[in-house]
Amino acid sequence: MTQGLQKRNLASMSLTELTEYVKSLSEGAFRAKQIYGWICKGAEIGEMTNLPARLRERLMEECVSFGVHIRECVTSKIDGTEKYLYELTDGNIIEGVRMRYHYGDTLCVSTQVGCRMGCRFCASTLEGCVRDLEAGEILGQILAVNRRIHDEDEKANGIHNVVLMGSGEPLDNYDNTVKFLRLLNAPEGLNLSLRNVSLSTCGLVPRMRQFANEGLPVTLSVSLHAPDDEIRKQLMPVANAYSIDDILDACREYIAKTGRRVIFEYALVRGVNCSDDCADKLAARLRGMQCHVNVIPLNDVKERQLEGPDERMIQGFLKRLEMRHISATRRREMGDDIQGACGQLRRSRLEGEANA
Ligand code: SAH
Repeated sequence: MTQGLQKRNLASMSLTELTEYVKSLSEGAFRAKQIYGWICKGAEIGEMTNLPARLRERLMEECVSFGVHIRECVTSKIDGTEKYLYELTDGNIIEGVRMRYHYGDTLCVSTQVGCRMGCRFCASTLEGCVRDLEAGEILGQILAVNRRIHDEDEKANGIHNVVLMGSGEPLDNYDNTVKFLRLLNAPEGLNLSLRNVSLSTCGLVPRMRQFANEGLPVTLSVSLHAPDDEIRKQLMPVANAYSIDDILDACREYIAKTGRRVIFEYALVRGVNCSDDCADKLAARLRGMQCHVNVIPLNDVKERQLEGPDERMIQGFLKRLEMRHISATRRREMGDDIQGACGQLRRSRLEGEANA
């Protein structure tokens, strides 16, 4: 499934790399700035009208602009959340969600086609990982959505916050993810502050430690989902490789190095991790840490026979954490009517295609 990727992705290049490339085509360095400007606007190569035709043709032979095309968009009638299905140049499909908040729009982006982590409650991982996304394809999701926003209203603000919480494990596609973050933050590019970015990981400890040393002020979210290793192993195979103690140590290092608090994601799964005892154990482990717990009612995944909690369980769990002075909130459920949760829309479309 990789034939479409033989072309280079222009959006994967920094301005310096693009300049080198343009020079290798015997073109002036100023052309790189022009191309870079177009990419940031989400333009395709054919639309780069101030380039000479010969350069456009050469670029089209060798490259794609960012390689992400919005194939479908579903809008929630409840809260205006938009869910996208994007098509990549090799025909693979990924998905994303744009959430509308009063302070600006947040885009949830994917880092891999599928995922190899195998979490039992997650729809993205059901067929394993098809491939890593290139840096330009991760950035390309934002470029495509910004373009769509600006096509509708020239003056509208583009995406303001980015969460790496779509399909894939960002730290399992480490180099491309870090490159993407640097491109996103480049002053000559989108210039988005990394303080507006959250990266969510299932807890790949060595990579978390490496990431702490990159000097990127990103908010780290860790999918904990359990108060002890036994329960975690029931939900997440990665718990066999890294213990919660190791994860929490890596988090402490992240907090010390970046000065930023860590967010723990905790999906409540009925009959598995919702009890008072679970809340107490979790609170004891997190005591004294500069952190926040995001409690997420599990979205049922029909393939996996796991169910979410009822309202009483959610409130009980939150109260119990609060009583023990752990800062915790329930993650707002956005786009409930459009299969807002990870991997679910892509899955339903893949199933549709398989049954057609
Ligand atoms: N691989 C990364 C990021 C992708 S998933 C990670 O594991 O953190 C983003 C978040 O959604 C994770 O916290 C994940 O555990 C959670 N998630 C996945 N499936 C879910 C479901 N069915 N219901 C609720 N949360 C889910």
